[in-house]
Amino acid sequence: MGLAEAIQAVQDRINNSALKAGRNPDGIKLVAVSKTVKLNRIIEAVKAGATIFGENRVQEAREKISNIKFQISDRKIQWHLIGNLQKNKAKIAVRLFDLIHSVDSIALAEELDKQADKRGKKQRVLLQVKLTDETAKHGIPEKDLMDLLQKVRDMDSLELEGLMTMPPFFDDPERTRPYFRRLRQIADSMIEKGFHINELSMGMTNDFEVAIEEGSTMVRVGRAIFGERNY
Ligand SMILES: *Cc1c(COP(=O)(O)O)cnc(C)c1O
Repeated sequence: MGLAEAIQAVQDRINNSALKAGRNPDGIKLVAVSKTVKLNRIIEAVKAGATIFGENRVQEAREKISNIKFQISDRKIQWHLIGNLQKNKAKIAVRLFDLIHSVDSIALAEELDKQADKRGKKQRVLLQVKLTDETAKHGIPEKDLMDLLQKVRDMDSLELEGLMTMPPFFDDPERTRPYFRRLRQIADSMIEKGFHINELSMGMTNDFEVAIEEGSTMVRVGRAIFGERNY
């Protein structure tokens, strides 16, 4: 299967699960996760219609973004940071990314706000929520989310758009459902409290259909588009 077919197949699956859940497929954005993928394949994906790319390393993204501009300057594409961000890379991240999915501490939010202010940019962000207490390294624990939401809301150069989560990996996608449902419930309760939450970034190759049934508005799909990664 070529890239165009793979993207179309994922898009068809997105549309089908949206319709099955009684949702408008237009409310779900596909983030093509291009980490470890070479530039020529990304360009091929752009030509096949992909418009949003997700990267998890600032340095890798920086090279791709600066190189791709020379080759396809006519197309509008968006870059999202989906991986963990260190404070000392906040400045580059603000320069590179349209949306940062992985804000998970007050210190990081403050640094992003400061760097965005310097650039005169409104940096769109999602807050990454940790829904498991054991193994997950990244994400803000649920009990601290409200405080972070309040702080971010009051930062002039950050634009809060929603929440992101990454459940543990299971072979059976049904087992991720409770995590996606939980994030949706948290979002609903925060919306009731007056927070601006439009986007729920949840679902990957293995489980994006379940995530859509549970309310995802952004699925982050790598392997189903680009194939298995060889690290
Ligand atoms: C790699 C990655 C994805 C995509 O995973 P696939 O299984 O390739 O679809 C999504 N989100 C994050 C945060 C990732 O690091």
